[in-house]
Amino acid sequence: MNSITQINHNQSQILAKDQEFVWHPYSSLTDPIPAYEVTSARGVNLRLADGTELIDGMSSWWCTIHGYNHPVLNQAAKQQIDAVSHVMFGGITHAPAVNLCEKLVQITPAGLDKVFLADSGSVGVEVAIKMAFQYWISKGQPQKNKLLSLRNGYHGDTFAAMSVCDPVTGMHHMFSEVLKQNFFAPAPQTAFDDDWDEQDIAEFASIISDNQQQLAAVILEPIVQGAGGMRFYSPEYLRRVRELCDQHNVLLIADEIATGFGRTGKLFACEWAGISPDIMCLGKAITGGYMTLAATLCSAKVSEGICAGEAGCFMHGPTFMGNPLACAVANASIDLLLNNNWQQDIQRIETALKSELQTFTELVSVAEVRALGAIGVIEMHRPVDVAEIQKKFVEAGVWVRPFGKLVYVMPPFISSDSEIKQLMRGIYNVLAGTD
Ligand SMILES: *Cc1c(COP(=O)(O)O)cnc(C)c1O
Repeated sequence: MNSITQINHNQSQILAKDQEFVWHPYSSLTDPIPAYEVTSARGVNLRLADGTELIDGMSSWWCTIHGYNHPVLNQAAKQQIDAVSHVMFGGITHAPAVNLCEKLVQITPAGLDKVFLADSGSVGVEVAIKMAFQYWISKGQPQKNKLLSLRNGYHGDTFAAMSVCDPVTGMHHMFSEVLKQNFFAPAPQTAFDDDWDEQDIAEFASIISDNQQQLAAVILEPIVQGAGGMRFYSPEYLRRVRELCDQHNVLLIADEIATGFGRTGKLFACEWAGISPDIMCLGKAITGGYMTLAATLCSAKVSEGICAGEAGCFMHGPTFMGNPLACAVANASIDLLLNNNWQQDIQRIETALKSELQTFTELVSVAEVRALGAIGVIEMHRPVDVAEIQKKFVEAGVWVRPFGKLVYVMPPFISSDSEIKQLMRGIYNVLAGTD
């Protein structure tokens, strides 16, 4: 091994080494697509190594709701670093974790009273699924070990999470042989604002009724199906799912990793339907995008069921569970959200997105536009070439990362009307240029 003490690359070397050594999400290392080097970020702006400033339309995948480099979050992190950055959670506790868990119980839908802290969204989903399985094992019904989820769903990249992602259009269909076989109902068809059509729940109802003996839980993304299609569906669908789960003795897991903390216009998307799930997964925006952290909440019924079983405890405990630094920033981020008029910000952004999106319907390449809360979607007729279009977006001064036919934005909540306008104009000009 050569000496590795002094590595100090300039910009072009960074990009070359990046392509040589570093995996990116869903990337090839044999035919790598060049990435953009970010050197700093502030507010809604990303600064690239060449000095270019981009308006961020992605909130770094739903996370940075308060924008980048926020003084309050910086302060919370610095203060916690000087106290203790990490300590094991086995046999030890600390105020940042306890305060966070109490806060989450207070702000989430009624009945979610116990909190398990994990490291990332996918792990939070694994924890939720394991809770459901262990609950039924404890109840003496180990045969209830299958899951029912929705087509077009996305729940993460680890194995149990992959097994409940869309089995055909999802990113994981090639793994079908190694994944646990679960049940899938059709994606909800009644759009968020549409009149409810009772037919929409029919197939779900027959699957849950026919398979209740095997079903541990239903897992779904409430109201917004994110990475599986950016679809917004009727709250009535969610209400009916809750009723059917109760009727057939199946737990309901709400994956609010993308929707949690205000993004859809409610603090949690379940509120649109006025329902409480038995288990809820949170992640992404929980720390305002500073640190990786997830939380899986459950009802006392679930926790008591698990703990009354043979094991006497829930069988899970990651090394970085309850990391104090992440918890401290999460507390600061949630306080910041609740102490600001976030509903007004989301309403304002939704209005701005809707008015800007109208103009996109003129383009022949655009099939449909939709917005809910601080989420705006432009669905194209054909899949876009991400590498090619991303270059044009960067030239237009905006950071947007489409997938498939979907060009979408979920900007930071601090985005001003003029920043939203600039973001959407940038996108429009690029799409108009290739129309
Ligand atoms: C992003 C996401 C996950 C996975 O979270 P990671 O932090 O990427 O592991 C799970 N469920 C939903 C709904 C998500 O949007």
